[in-house]
Amino acid sequence: MRVLKKLERIKETEDYWRRNTIATNYPTVTAIELTNKCNFRCTFCPAFTRKSGFMDADLLRHILKTTRFSDSLVQLHFHGESLLHPQLGEMISLCKDAGLNVGLSTNASLLDEKRSRILIQSKLDTLVLAFDGVSKEIF
Ligand code: SF4
Repeated sequence: MRVLKKLERIKETEDYWRRNTIATNYPTVTAIELTNKCNFRCTFCPAFTRKSGFMDADLLRHILKTTRFSDSLVQLHFHGESLLHPQLGEMISLCKDAGLNVGLSTNASLLDEKRSRILIQSKLDTLVLAFDGVSKEIF
């Protein structure tokens, strides 16, 4: 199995360097956008160019049942703040129960004790805290 995964990585790198427009491999990272809603309005963000909403758990179950994931990472964000999702813990748990390595990126402004517990209890593997400035003025 490990050899197979290494081969997938090699094929992915080859696709990149050869500039192949049709991939010969499954993606090593899969993004599932739980929501494109956000409590911020960053000027460069494309999240608000589409109708906004939350993914429901049945759709995620369907995705998990019908998708072939690679070994690396399923990230539960794309454009939007996933901590706003009202069923965040359930969504992460569904992915973990499917045997996936799960991560998400957040602007961290909503990361209170309740949400922190949800992330820990649902066994999220990777949490990225994305800050766009190191001082309040720059931010
Ligand atoms: S915090 Fe992230 S998702 Fe929210 S507006 Fe900014 S870039 Fe977009």
